[in-house]
Amino acid sequence: MISPRGRHFFANPGPTNIPDSVLLATAHASVDFNDPAFFAVYEAGRAGLQRVLRQDSGELFLYTASGHGAWDATLVNLFSPGDRLLMIASGYFSDSWAAMAARLGLTVETVAADWRRGADIAAVEKALRADAKGTIRAVCAVHNETSTGLVLPLPAIRAAIDAARHPALFLVDTISSLGSFDFRMSEWGIDAVVGGSQKGLMLPAGLSFTAVSERGMAAHREAGLARGYFDWTAMLSRPHKSFMGTVPVTFFYGLREALRLLEEEGLENVFARHHRLAGGVRAAVRAWAGNHGPELYGITPERLSDSVTTILMPEGFDAEAVRAIARERFNVSLGGGLGALGGKVFRIGHLGDLNEAMVMGTLAAVDMSLTRAGVPHGGGALDAAMASFAE
Ligand SMILES: *Cc1c(COP(=O)(O)O)cnc(C)c1O
Repeated sequence: MISPRGRHFFANPGPTNIPDSVLLATAHASVDFNDPAFFAVYEAGRAGLQRVLRQDSGELFLYTASGHGAWDATLVNLFSPGDRLLMIASGYFSDSWAAMAARLGLTVETVAADWRRGADIAAVEKALRADAKGTIRAVCAVHNETSTGLVLPLPAIRAAIDAARHPALFLVDTISSLGSFDFRMSEWGIDAVVGGSQKGLMLPAGLSFTAVSERGMAAHREAGLARGYFDWTAMLSRPHKSFMGTVPVTFFYGLREALRLLEEEGLENVFARHHRLAGGVRAAVRAWAGNHGPELYGITPERLSDSVTTILMPEGFDAEAVRAIARERFNVSLGGGLGALGGKVFRIGHLGDLNEAMVMGTLAAVDMSLTRAGVPHGGGALDAAMASFAE
């Protein structure tokens, strides 16, 4: 039975907690989206997003859509039927993006990877070298694979494309890394970045965007896939240089406040906080793993994500049972396993508006839920997390 009192602890890796001040800012009365007063808020929001993206040049297109919409928009605006894409496999989200590209009539090749280890970047370079004619149009990577909790090293991928002297565009999904750990669009030579509102940016779901480099815009001008709602050229002719139809104005009052919070804390400090919180969660999971308990899904330590931890259940135990107890008995919402990982893993989101005490509450609820579900696990997880946080 859910206790009706106290805060619902929300430990999903997206959507994430919305800070009270962002919630209040989002509760804004309707305004005309062409009103100069709104336009100023809108332009400031775009500029702020470009600072968080570290985008120095190119365009930024915004959509009333979740992240999937931004995936779609990015593909239809950059490519022509049959174009070849090289998707670096990382998990459920890279598979889903690849499947969408195939549905749009693109030819998707994959750099295969063990989801628990993460892709070998040398294999990316090898695949590009094998394409001597340079017909692969883009390398696609999910920066932070939210299903597995593993990160891809984007500068190393850029270096692999350069080492192969390959002309492919570099496309990155930063939906669950932006505003949580280091991301630098221009410095890392990324041509199209897909982002969304409801993860590190601490906003409700429904606003997503693509930041595009000058090279990306040149590719757009040649692209031949059919486009309707998401046509960048059509968007550029509108005053907001984004959106078809009504601009979702309330998002931009929320975005102004979310950007204010991120920049008041300082992005470097935001990243350091995410790193600390992730360290505590990982310390707890390593303790649970004793006694044949749940363990870290990722087995490449330097690739473990600072925004989400995926936890693999011991053989024969159902992650959904643990999640149900956490939700029903302790009013704590954990992330579930996606796709093929359903029932095998659960996920703790540690991104966005979060601090050590909130993470300790979540870890305590997980510990109690494991006990109630009869899942074997090592002791001392909370002590391990506290020791990590007290450092
Ligand atoms: C959440 C997420 C998506 C999908 O975004 P929606 O807003 O749910 O459509 C895509 N990629 C990654 C890495 C994500 O974490």
